[in-house]
Order: sequence, then structure tokens, then C-alpha cells
Amino acid sequence: MTHILHRQIHAPLPVAAGGSGIELFDTEGRAYIDASGGAAVSCLGHGHPDVIEALRRQAETLAYAHTSFFTSEPAERLADRLIASAPEGISHAYFVSGGSEANEAAIKMARQYFVEKGQPQRRNIIARRQSYHGNTLGTLAAGGNEWRRAPFAPLLIGTHHISPCYAYRHREEGESDAAYGQRAAQELEDKILELGPDTVMAFMAEPVVGATAGAVPAVEGYFRRIREICDRHGVLLILDEVMCGMGRTGTMFACEQDGVRPDIVTIAKGLGGGYQPIGAALLSRDIFDAFAEGSGLFQHGHTYICHPMACAAALAVQEVIARDGLLRNVREVGAHLRERLEARFGNHAHIGDIRGRGMFLGLELVTDRSTKATFEPDAKLHARVKKEAMARGLMVYPAGGTVDGVRGDHILIAPPFILGRPAAEAIVERLGEALDAAVAQVRP
Ligand code: PLP
Repeated sequence: MTHILHRQIHAPLPVAAGGSGIELFDTEGRAYIDASGGAAVSCLGHGHPDVIEALRRQAETLAYAHTSFFTSEPAERLADRLIASAPEGISHAYFVSGGSEANEAAIKMARQYFVEKGQPQRRNIIARRQSYHGNTLGTLAAGGNEWRRAPFAPLLIGTHHISPCYAYRHREEGESDAAYGQRAAQELEDKILELGPDTVMAFMAEPVVGATAGAVPAVEGYFRRIREICDRHGVLLILDEVMCGMGRTGTMFACEQDGVRPDIVTIAKGLGGGYQPIGAALLSRDIFDAFAEGSGLFQHGHTYICHPMACAAALAVQEVIARDGLLRNVREVGAHLRERLEARFGNHAHIGDIRGRGMFLGLELVTDRSTKATFEPDAKLHARVKKEAMARGLMVYPAGGTVDGVRGDHILIAPPFILGRPAAEAIVERLGEALDAAVAQVRP
């Protein structure tokens, strides 16, 4: 009997007892390969001695200081480090405790920016169906995941949605990636014109869609066109890299690979690698200047912003990633893992698509590869695969967002950056067994 309100009330969970490297252990002594990094969080794996040591030192030095009285050394150093590698134009960091808080802060930054600029009528946010930006009311309003939004409607802020860039389902027969990317991006301009450009404050999107769709990157050229459209209409571009950022796709920021410069980029998950809860909204010089030259403050704040322990953990995680050259491993072993997935599932009757970048990979589950039909929503194949994988000592993340009434069925793979080739083989092997066992339960 638990006194915790768990998300799934009727599904008892194993008790995690410890972790080391790419594995977690439960109190029954079972080991699990953490092939999803939890939810794309544990980028350094578990029990890393350098991060533990950094946390110990920080706890001894300074665990907490409220930001209305003090700044702190780990927070300042982390900001310096992030800004040094951030996309062009990004000049400041705002530290919070997770991804939803980072996106909530980003939305408020955009809103206050236009208030400072004397354009308070710019209130609308445009985002994409299928996106997930968090579970607070504001971020839920921005996100386009129908089943998460529905129970809480009406939501707080005016948001509007366009189609995701989802080549597997939305690119037409014979259409090139380039043509599809332009067509998908054009939806943004059409929506801005429909709402009236002077009412729109921001467009928000994940460069690689994660939790709702299983690692869907945009096609070449899509985000460059999105940037042009935002610039033409004075709309801010907020990129949500909570899941796909901090090296997960093989570059520090996923948007580097799309050749696009955001006005705000949000990060969390891999920033602290799970060693502490931390997220951040990184903002452009232009937005910072509007606050600095206007009211002189950002009208926001939480008790735990810039938490010294969280910043120290994130600093240690990021230093280890750089010192050990782990982004190279993300690219090389990520490519190997993808190759093995393609070899094992490329012709599988129920895998329609294998996609992603670096160590952020997704499989889309279908009943029939030629029609791309999905399993009945109640079948929840992704959840069955997760369960069968756990029974075989493997953690993979079930992704099931709904787009235009179609319930998605995807598996997300996001292992620690320290993953080696033998473990990549083990992941594919166990996933294959789990998938076959799950399909056997639902096949008519
Ligand atoms: N944005 C994206 C892209 C996410 O994947 C998530 C979480 O999965 C969030 C925001 C919300 O982050 P958090 O769960 O830390 O609040």
C-alpha cells in the first residue's frame, strides 16, 4: 500500500534501489538497462562519481541562497558555460526546476517582451499539434497533445495549432522533403495572417518531437523557413529543447543541425542528467535589453530558481560530457544503434518508421506497414512494449500523443551518452523480444 498518488493508480511499480552506469536496480535485485534515460534525462547514466563529488562539495559549501538576496557561484558559472555554447544571439539564462517551468517562463518572457515594446496586443501563441511542452496549465495550453489537454479545457491562454512537420505521415506521394518542409512551414504564415500578425507573440516548437511522437525531426529547410516567417512578422521563435537538447542529438543544441537561431530556447532533462531537478530558458540579447531598458526586471520567479545544488550538478554533468568527448559517442554509438535497429526492425511487420538523431531514436508502431494503420487506441501497444521490456530488464519510453484524432503508438530510445556497442546490441535484442510478446497480445 502506497501513500503516493502515482500517475497510474492501478499499476504498482518496482522500487528503484540504485543505479550504476547504464543500469538501474530494483529492491528485488533485478537490473534494467536504462535505454530511455528515464524520459531522456539520465545522459551520464547513474552514480557518476564526478557528479556525486560535485554535489557533496556544494552541499558542504552552500546548499541554498534565495535569489532576492544572492546570486551564487555555481549558477553564474553554469550560465557562462551555457551561453558560451548557445546558438547565436542568446545572451542570458534563467534557471528553474524543470521543463514545464522553463517553458512557462519562456511564454511569460515573450509576453512581457511585447508589453515592454508597447505591443501588449501580441498575446497569441502558435504551436504544433502533437507537441508536448509541459503539464502546467500554461504549457498544456501551448502544447498540442489533445488527450492531455481535453480534461482541463478551457485552458488559460490563447493558443493556436498548426500541423507538425511529420514526414512519415504528412509528406505526399512523390513530394520531396524540401517541398514538404516549405508546405508545412507555410501553415505558420497562414495562421499568423489569419490571426493578424500584430496579435501573435510567439511560435513554439520542439526541433525533434519527443514524448508524444518518438523522436520526429523536421525535414531539411523547415526550420529555416519558419525563422524567415517569424522574422517577417515580428514573431518570436521559442524552441523547446527540453528533451532533444544538451547533446542528445549529437550536437549541444538540436537546432544547430537545422541551421536555425531561436529567440528563446528551453532546456531541462539532460542539463542536470537527473542528478538534480533543473531547467532553463535561454533568451536573446534583444529580449534581455527590452527588460533591462524597460521595467528593469523580469516579472517572474520561484523559490528554487538558480538553486546552487541543481546548478552545481548541471555544471558537473556538462563538464564531464565535454571532458570525456561524449557528444562524439552520441554520434558514433547512436549511429551504430540506429543501424542495428534498422537491421532488426527494418522489415518488421509492425514497425512503420525508424527515425531520430544521435541517441534520440524512435520507432513507430503500425498494424500494417503499407497502409500505416495504427493499432486500436485501446490496444496501447507502446505501453505493452514498455511492460514487456521491463520484464526483460530494459527501459524504453512509450510515446503516445494524439494528432488529429489518431492516437500515436511510438517507442522512444534515449540511452545514456556513455552507451557502448555491446549494450546497444543488448537493447535491440531485448526490444525485439518485448515487441513480439506485446504484438502477440493484441494481434487479432
Ligand atoms: N517539453 C518537452 C519537449 C518535454 O519532453 C517535456 C517533458 O517530457 C517537457 C517540456 C516538460 O518537462 P518537465 O516534465 O520537466 O516539466
